[in-house]
Amino acid sequence: MTDAAEPPAVLDVVNALDRRYPRDWAESWDRVGLVLGDFAHPVTRVLCVVDCVPETVDQALAVGADLIVAHHPLLLKPVSSIAPDTYKGRIIHRLIRGDVALYVAHTNADVANPGVSDALAARLDLKDLRPLVPISGTDRGPGRIGELVEPMSLHAFTGFAASRLPATTAGIRAAGDPTRTIQLVAVCGGAGDSFLADAKRAGVDAYLCADLRHHPASEYLAEGGPALLDVAHWATERPWLDDVAVWLRGEFAVDVVVSDLDTDPWTVHARSTPDEKKEILP
Ligand SMILES: [Zn+2]
Repeated sequence: MTDAAEPPAVLDVVNALDRRYPRDWAESWDRVGLVLGDFAHPVTRVLCVVDCVPETVDQALAVGADLIVAHHPLLLKPVSSIAPDTYKGRIIHRLIRGDVALYVAHTNADVANPGVSDALAARLDLKDLRPLVPISGTDRGPGRIGELVEPMSLHAFTGFAASRLPATTAGIRAAGDPTRTIQLVAVCGGAGDSFLADAKRAGVDAYLCADLRHHPASEYLAEGGPALLDVAHWATERPWLDDVAVWLRGEFAVDVVVSDLDTDPWTVHARSTPDEKKEILP
């Protein structure tokens, strides 16, 4: 705890975030931690975002944030220039000019406990949580498995999930028999393809994550795997921002703003028109 009268410095908040989300918990390909910022700069306001994009940078500058805590790395692949006429360079210049530090907790936050998938599971009231892919000797790991308070059909569960998760244009689509009973559920914030086998092995009734693709989804269903719920990527990770905000407010005398700016790339969604109702041009 910092003295309430004294705002923490960027370094103080970075050190606390690093303790909660140790950088060596991240995947080797990932790039986490402080991206830019002046260690000594005082932090009075923090903005939590899933993506550091021009719109969330606008928001950070508008609310007077001194620090952005983001889930996705701004710089994952190497760059040879941050010239202001490049997309990322412009973001970096605006942040530095605005004295806004940028910190990333990505796959290290995915495996933390509590981590990204706990916040997602909490939205669905899942109980008796355990990691979907436990890291041996720890209580951590990506994804979570838990029980629904009441079993329900896949059709009902899809509607329930849509009512509990942040709204997006894409919404939620589900794969499998709509009447199938769902009680044991696996969830994973973000792209969940790589844990399909784990969800099947765990014997869950449904697996909810983002970015599912035609072939893996079809194959797992055909092999008797769980029903699948494909959620917009942003909506699976946005719940975690609330958890970070509550924790930061407990650690430091700072204002924390959670961004509800939907940074999912999909902005239009149309339901298919049944063929008999299609307008057939002569
Ligand atoms: Zn993600």
